[in-house]
Amino acid sequence: MAHDPLYETVIGLEVHAQMRTQSKIFCGCSTTFGAEANTQICPVCAALPGVLPVLNTELVQMAIKTGLAIQGKIRERSEFSRKNYFYPDLPAGYQISQFELPIIEQGELHVVTDDGNKKKIGITRIHMEVDAGKSLHEGIQGFSWIDLNRTGTPLLEIVSEPDLRSSQEAGAYLKKLRSILRYLQVCDGNMEEGSFRCDANVSVRKQGQTRLGTRTELKNLNSIRRCRCPGNPTLGRHLEHHPSHARQGRGPRLSLFPRTRSPPAGDSSGPH
Ligand SMILES: [Zn+2]
Repeated sequence: MAHDPLYETVIGLEVHAQMRTQSKIFCGCSTTFGAEANTQICPVCAALPGVLPVLNTELVQMAIKTGLAIQGKIRERSEFSRKNYFYPDLPAGYQISQFELPIIEQGELHVVTDDGNKKKIGITRIHMEVDAGKSLHEGIQGFSWIDLNRTGTPLLEIVSEPDLRSSQEAGAYLKKLRSILRYLQVCDGNMEEGSFRCDANVSVRKQGQTRLGTRTELKNLNSIRRCRCPGNPTLGRHLEHHPSHARQGRGPRLSLFPRTRSPPAGDSSGPH
């Protein structure tokens, strides 16, 4: 795929990988996919007053395994934080995540680029966090159902450096990362069931420029093919007609990933 010689695409990826623990992150409820709505919940999942979360050791072990596999720095002390969201499928009103002291920092992953060379992609951090529940809208007029089975399901958020330069590289990175997680048996990598989800931060800048352009965030790219197939020729054409977008970072949203729609805030996909 030809690149526009004047501009380059800068991509950083955030992957949410669901860990294959037996139980949820802070309680003993099952994490099995596909059960009848609200059959895998308890007072912790429903965030009832007075509940005390107990951290799942298996999750910490899986996070450390993943950190070692990407040659990351394992923190001896890491910390959870609350991130406030006002979503109906998040009864606590906040997501428990890690902010200042994530469990893993400064890892790397090697991918083969379009021209056949090996390239190191930095991994900024990996942190542990909880997933939200699900709002169900289909087939119901005027109101929604809430299914809390997924609430408290453990996730690792794996954040890359903005080191990727094309959708092909992004695809190669995702494939490599998914195969590592599968090999470690910490994640089944199933994108259709949402156990491996990807958000992309994309910006465009003139070749040779070091400062990053304004980024566009693309949520929930739910297949690797979607990250790979569209690509730079479309983006190049777009920029020919709207060169100011390279500076402002507007525009590539639909032309780079034409078949992907970013859902509105509060969508059933929950917090990120
Ligand atoms: Zn529970």
